[in-house]
Amino acid sequence: MREAPVYRPPSEAESLILPVTAGCSWNRCAFCEMYTDRRYAVTPLAEVDAWLAAAARSGWPVRRVFLADGDPLAADTEHLLAVLDRIRTHFPDLNRISAYASPRNIRAKSDAELGDLAAAGLGLVYAGIESGDDEVLRRVRKGETAASTVEALRRARAAGLRVSVMVINGLGGRALSAAHAAGSAAVVSAVDPEYVSTLVLGLPPGGRRFRTAFGDGFEPLDAAGLLAELGAFVGEVRCRRAVFRSDHASNFLPLRGILSRDRDRLLTEIAAGLAAFRDLPLSQIRPLDQY
Ligand code: SF4
Repeated sequence: MREAPVYRPPSEAESLILPVTAGCSWNRCAFCEMYTDRRYAVTPLAEVDAWLAAAARSGWPVRRVFLADGDPLAADTEHLLAVLDRIRTHFPDLNRISAYASPRNIRAKSDAELGDLAAAGLGLVYAGIESGDDEVLRRVRKGETAASTVEALRRARAAGLRVSVMVINGLGGRALSAAHAAGSAAVVSAVDPEYVSTLVLGLPPGGRRFRTAFGDGFEPLDAAGLLAELGAFVGEVRCRRAVFRSDHASNFLPLRGILSRDRDRLLTEIAAGLAAFRDLPLSQIRPLDQY
């Protein structure tokens, strides 16, 4: 059966987590150590069947299913369609099926395949774009550029998939903070997703893997720097309807609103956070501070 831990977005807390794959087929992002302890593999359909049957027998009222692990869309479309078919058979009254998806996964699929997945019930993909600045993306070994991210996520949206994008506050450190905020706002605006969220960079003690990849001179942002960067991003990003959230456990200032409607309020809350946290070390306001 499945190795722990299992990772999921905060908004999937009530979902059945279905392990369609294990690990991440890329597994090179310098800031991410979620799957460094496991080899990427596609879960056989018989095992998926066993998980679904066990969940159905439990009597738990499943309304949402989240496909795990890090990039289930790296699996063949035929396999994913078979999984989606089985999910609908076991749980015909679902509200939503969702999954993590990288731009790379999406690029590897044709428009027709993406459309087939949407038609089969995959309703929402969570894409960690991390940054919209090419230099930050290069240094953290994301394997994407701003252009490749925009192209892939626009195709996903055109195929009928809703898209939730994630940006990592602080990923460029002090030197690249302004470029990171501006580039991320530009990429998110170009994608115009349904959901936008931010989380705060957190590294294991020492962060050696990250610092080695990033190169000389990574200086982490303090609380004031993180909030200033977040304010620059929120101030610049333009989306038609996107819901914005900073409700990941790494955030020390939870925010929620519709960007086009609530921008001024969000910026006021960020300014208030800046005033409150300006002189405090991160370790006092964020238990996950691990720099
Ligand atoms: S693609 Fe996602 S899961 Fe894979 S290494 Fe990068 S951040 Fe981690």
